[in-house]
Amino acid sequence: MANSLSPRIRKLSEALSRLPGIGPLSAQRIAFHLLSGEDRSEARELAHLIEDAADSVRHCELCNTLCEDTLCSTCSDPKRERDKICVVESPADQQVIEGSLAYRGLYFVLGGRLSPVEDRGPEEIGLEKLMKRLEAEEVKEVILATSFTAEGDATAHYIALAAARHHPGIRVTRLARGIPAGIELEYTDVATVAHALLGRREA
Ligand SMILES: [Zn+2]
Repeated sequence: MANSLSPRIRKLSEALSRLPGIGPLSAQRIAFHLLSGEDRSEARELAHLIEDAADSVRHCELCNTLCEDTLCSTCSDPKRERDKICVVESPADQQVIEGSLAYRGLYFVLGGRLSPVEDRGPEEIGLEKLMKRLEAEEVKEVILATSFTAEGDATAHYIALAAARHHPGIRVTRLARGIPAGIELEYTDVATVAHALLGRREA
């Protein structure tokens, strides 16, 4: 950040640049944009929306996704197929699967993927909760939709082994390899995701 920026603008720019996908220059541009104009209504509205969401949004008790009630709309939808659970890394990835319109089952949203570098183990990503859920419900299939990165593959492998050990009767599948290696699910187009879902095979 340029040193000629006022302290408050610099602080705001630095905070914005920590958001995913926003570099220092974009952050500075957004900060200037928010502070242009006389009444600052856009900045105030944004601040209010962020505060309100931070206060009201929580995790679904069943699938961990972000929602505003005890259960999310997917978990409480009686029309969903309750014998399938699709395991994803984030609420954003869940939205990608939903967007493909190729899946009508339930979800489990992990707290990211296993990462020795970032010190994220099975406990941090919520694996215990997932295993408990497999115990409690009539699940016939677990679909592993973690990303096709090294860590995503390792996470899928770990979950497949744990499921096989504790719940050998449950079928565990992985999305087909239509998705290019190293790519986050979040950045994959819906047609490719639909294809990968339909072509899923044993993990
Ligand atoms: Zn849910």
